[in-house]
This record gives sequence, structure tokens and C-alpha cells, in this order.
Amino acid sequence: MSVKRIIVSQTPEKIGENVLIFGWIHKRRDHGKLIFCDLRDRGGILQIVFEPKDAQLHELANSLRSEFVVAVWGEIKKRPKNLINPKIITGTVEMSVTRLEIVSQSKTPPFELDKDTLGVNEEIRLRHRYLDLRTQRMKNNVVMRHKIIRLVRDYFDHLDFIEVETPYLTKGTPEGAREFIVPARLWPGKFYVLPQSPQQFKQLLMVAGMEKYYQIARCFRDEDQRGDRQPEFTQIDVELSFTDQEEVLNLIENLMVKMAKTLYPEKKITRLPFPRLKYEEAVAKYKTDKPDIRKDRNNPDELGFCWVIDMPMFKKSETEKKIVATHHPFTMPNAEDMAKYPDDPLKWRANAYDLSLNGFEIWGGSIRIHLADIQQKVFNILGLNQNEIDRRFGHMMEAFSYGVPPHGGIAAGLDRIIAILQREPNIREVMAFPKTGDNRDLMMDAPNIVSEKTLKETHIKLSEEVNVKAGTETSLVD
Ligand code: ASP
Repeated sequence: MSVKRIIVSQTPEKIGENVLIFGWIHKRRDHGKLIFCDLRDRGGILQIVFEPKDAQLHELANSLRSEFVVAVWGEIKKRPKNLINPKIITGTVEMSVTRLEIVSQSKTPPFELDKDTLGVNEEIRLRHRYLDLRTQRMKNNVVMRHKIIRLVRDYFDHLDFIEVETPYLTKGTPEGAREFIVPARLWPGKFYVLPQSPQQFKQLLMVAGMEKYYQIARCFRDEDQRGDRQPEFTQIDVELSFTDQEEVLNLIENLMVKMAKTLYPEKKITRLPFPRLKYEEAVAKYKTDKPDIRKDRNNPDELGFCWVIDMPMFKKSETEKKIVATHHPFTMPNAEDMAKYPDDPLKWRANAYDLSLNGFEIWGGSIRIHLADIQQKVFNILGLNQNEIDRRFGHMMEAFSYGVPPHGGIAAGLDRIIAILQREPNIREVMAFPKTGDNRDLMMDAPNIVSEKTLKETHIKLSEEVNVKAGTETSLVD
């Protein structure tokens, strides 16, 4: 029988035809002599039926267990009216199987895949993420993530933005978090740093004359266990030349409205246009700079977007010893404030803006400094001496001496946006392969030791203490 494979979502149009379907046994139910299975493939779920008349086929069907991969041939038939299942897209049809092949068998999965896994021990789910992703909710999250990213790319593409990839092996950039480092084998004693964001590269792309940049960018932050964070996460990163705050805010507002209306038409946006609050107003009214402006804060299908602008340029760090940048040191301070309080930078406001959604900060950005003397001043206020400025930011200062367009941009925490839209309690639920709260990948078993040879090649000597902890493991040889 040479028939072409179809997927289960196509079956309602194939009534009366003989077809071939590949998939996983989702569930098996025996009704007297009839064996019913739910067959699952990327198109959904289809009921397949084995009748007792073919004894050999029936016996083989009897050996089917959950998660076996099978090929089934048979006729697509209309279900009797009383057996229609309106909950699934194939609910009006079923396959009467005439031939079955078991393609591969499966052990009993460590948790049930025909049920929601949110209540299952998360370590077990993460260790077997490839099984967790077979469940309906998780698969839907991955698919919706794809659709959101596609909408973002189309949106910027239509507005003439170009996506540029920026390096992962680079030098530190100040965004306030600890950074991951990678030993440079060819340069003993030197290290690459994984980017906390493409901030400096996107600004250098503006110096390069790209004018309109965006990127779906992976970012890395080596933070301690703190809230719902991941050591690597995804940003929608945007930068424009010859722009101003008004243009950036409208650009992002239109994107978010389009995303909500196209992909989540059932959701309601609390206020349009998005309200814009000055930082001081937000803190006075909502006691936070990430206000939740929803009318009903318990309604996950209400989307309360709110801009917060005019935040302070600097703040005293937690230890009160140092002044730090509230956003980052490339942000343009308010010109009036600089003129009015030349010696009191803590009074300066920044030309920066954040967008919050239901109490979470989802976008943040600023108009940048494009003049070397203001940049130099900001570095000085931050307490950097000339040596440090040259070592860490010499390339920026040099670039700023070759004709820099005024520019500004913004970046979004994409995982958070998806989690809110998908009504998920944390960002791990919308990442295909997330890490645990303490930064482990339980499925791959990372981080892990490396061989002595690798350590030697990368010029790394482990301290006595670490060696004792890792025990004999560190004597692994290639
Ligand atoms: N690079 C900034 C961040 O990661 C965003 C921006 O200023 O565009 O928060």
C-alpha cells in the first residue's frame, strides 16, 4: 500500500480515504473487543480503532503501550453522532486501522504525558524535558513562542529594520550583573566575556550607519538565585539613529498592540494609548516603578501596559559608597538638569523609558549619549579613572570621534512577555530547555567537569579547595 503520510489535523478532510499516519500512542482504551487509541503527532490527536476481525492485527494492537511510535494505515471514517468529541479538531472522525507497524517502543514515562505537568516535580520534568515538551500545554507554549518571534521579525522587517547578529564571545558591558567568562585558549590568562546584552555592539552599528537594527538576541547574566531569572535568556533588542523618545515609544507600543490583537484576540488591553507616567508619579501612586494598572489584577487576560519615563540618571549603590547608573552609563542625561545642577548628578533625570505589563518590566531603553565629552563626564561621575575608561571603553570613545548619529533604543525580556501572554507562572514554562533556579541543566547534566587535558590547554589550575570538592572527577582524561 503506497499511500502518502498525512498528519492527524488533515484527517477531517479525508473521510472515506485510506491514509498513513505516523505518531505516538497517547492513550489506549479497551472496550470489550475493540481497542481504541489516541494517536498523537504534531497536528494533534486522532482516535484510531482496531476491530477484532483481524486476529493478528488485534494481537499486535494489544501490545501497544503509551508513547510507542507507530505507523498506522487505514480508512478515515465519520464518527457516529453520539461519539463526536467537540474538544479536539479531529473529533468528528476516526481511523479504522487495517495495518500497524511498531516503529519504536517506549519505557513507561516518569510522568503522565496526557495530563498537564505543572504539578509534577520540576526536576523530573527538566531531566526529561523532551517528554515534558510532548504535553499539550508545553508544546503550545513552544509554538506560540515561535509565532510571537515571527510576528516581531515581520514587524521590524516591514519597517526597514535589519537583523544583525552580534558576538557572544566578547568583552564585558556594564548592565549591572555578574558576567560569564570563557577562557581564551590561544591567549593564556585572558578571557572572553559573554554579553549581558548587545548594548555596545548595537550602538557601534549606529556609528556604522545601519540606522535601524533589531535582533532576537541571547543574553547571559551570571546572577545568584534571584526570583524568576535564567542565566541565559532572550531579548528583542532594538536601536535607531536620528530618533527620539516619542518615536521609540510609539514603535514599541504599536508592536505590542499588534502582538496582542493578532495572536491573543481574546485578551483586553486596559488602556490605549498606553499611559505614560513620570518615574516620580509612578512611585507616588503605585509605590513601584513597575505599576500594574489593570482594572482587575486577578485577570490574566487583561493586559495593563504602562510607560514609566524620566527616571533618575544615577542612584547610590546599595553600599552607599558609589554612584551607579540607574539604566546604564550610555544613557543620555536630561540636558536641563545637567545645566541646572552641574555638581549634583543625583538630581539628573535620564532620557530613559521602561514599559511594564501587569506589574512586570518588559521593555527598557534610553536615548544614548552620542557626544564623547558627555560620555567622559558620565564615566567620571561613576568614579572610573582614565585608565579604566581607556581599558574598558576606549573603543567606544574612539568610535565616538568618527561622526556619531544621535541614537536610542530599547530591549525587551522576550521570555517574560511570552510567559505573561501564555498565562504561565514563570519563564521556564515558555523556554524549551531552561535551567533550574541554581543554573543547572539537569537533562544535559551541565555544568560539568572537563578533562585535565582541557584544563591544561586552557591554562586553568583548579584551587585545592575545588579539587577536593570535585574529588577524583577532576582527573578525567580525554
Ligand atoms: N541594553 C539594555 C538592557 O539590556 C536595553 C537598552 O538600553 O536598549 O536592559
